[in-house]
Amino acid sequence: MIDTKTLSKNKREKIKKQLDHNYIPCLAVILVGENPASLSYVKGKEKACREVGISTITITLEDRITQEELIKLIDELNIDNSVDGILVQLPLPSHIDEFAVINAIDPSKDVDGFHPSNVAALYLKQKGIIPCTPKGIIDVLDFAGVEIEGKYAVVIGRSNIVGMPISKLLLDRNATVTICHSKTKNLSDITSKADILIAAVGKPLFVTADMVKEGAVVIDVGVNRGENGKLCGDVDFENVKEKTSYITKVPGGIGPMTITCLLENTVECFMNRKVLSNG
Ligand code: NAP
Repeated sequence: MIDTKTLSKNKREKIKKQLDHNYIPCLAVILVGENPASLSYVKGKEKACREVGISTITITLEDRITQEELIKLIDELNIDNSVDGILVQLPLPSHIDEFAVINAIDPSKDVDGFHPSNVAALYLKQKGIIPCTPKGIIDVLDFAGVEIEGKYAVVIGRSNIVGMPISKLLLDRNATVTICHSKTKNLSDITSKADILIAAVGKPLFVTADMVKEGAVVIDVGVNRGENGKLCGDVDFENVKEKTSYITKVPGGIGPMTITCLLENTVECFMNRKVLSNG
């Protein structure tokens, strides 16, 4: 099992040293509504920020807020010089267009890397903010010493926040990449050939041992509630682990790394803005 806990701890200590009380970036977090999962994610992010010396402002809004009001708030945060990063916790209520909201965030404060300018930068291999979960996955593979170049990587899932960006990052590292989705036929024929298998499906224990090649590296991104009500991933960890050379576990694994990358992205936005303001 890849020791992502140590990797996360090392990275967070590095950020803490880098900030060293002289620099205090500020992350504004917007939470709309009272979705318990979102609330818990926001609390986790606030705690992680506090521990490394990033200050946070959390703005909690009722879920009946209009899209216009939400965008007006983002506009205010965009021009507020004391704010270095803006994060809108997703999902948003169904009457709000997520794309319009993400599009309203100043790309230089877009710590999630979801703004079209940052997405374009990723696809055009330009400098930009890379989404946290895919960035964390690459860090985990590097930390474990997994060679990516020349390997056959299969990604299950094609979302804008995980499946697509991780596929691009793996391609940029010279893997040969196949992206699978809900309409993919003969899924296990494909996954069972993968040297590196990334599961970002959102279905408990979806990846079973027969879908995995002997010696494969398996990264489990899923965060689900199993039948027993406990958190579990997309991978049937207990049965799959015996076949793998490296595997990540849920809970733990990629989740904490995602938050660590959020901290790194916040510092990156802060440093970029500092360089700009120093001319
Ligand atoms: P999503 O937007 O719902 O995307 C799920 C993807 O899985 C879709 O592309 C979907 O295909 C595909 N899929 C669904 N059923 C499938 C099937 N039977 N066979 C093959 N593919 C199938 O989810 P997401 O936002 O990418 O997140 C995926 C999981 O990762 C969730 O459990 C989420 O909670 C978790 N997550 C964790 C972190 C973290 O920090 N650890 C961060 C983000 C997400 P279609 O495109 O055809 O619908």
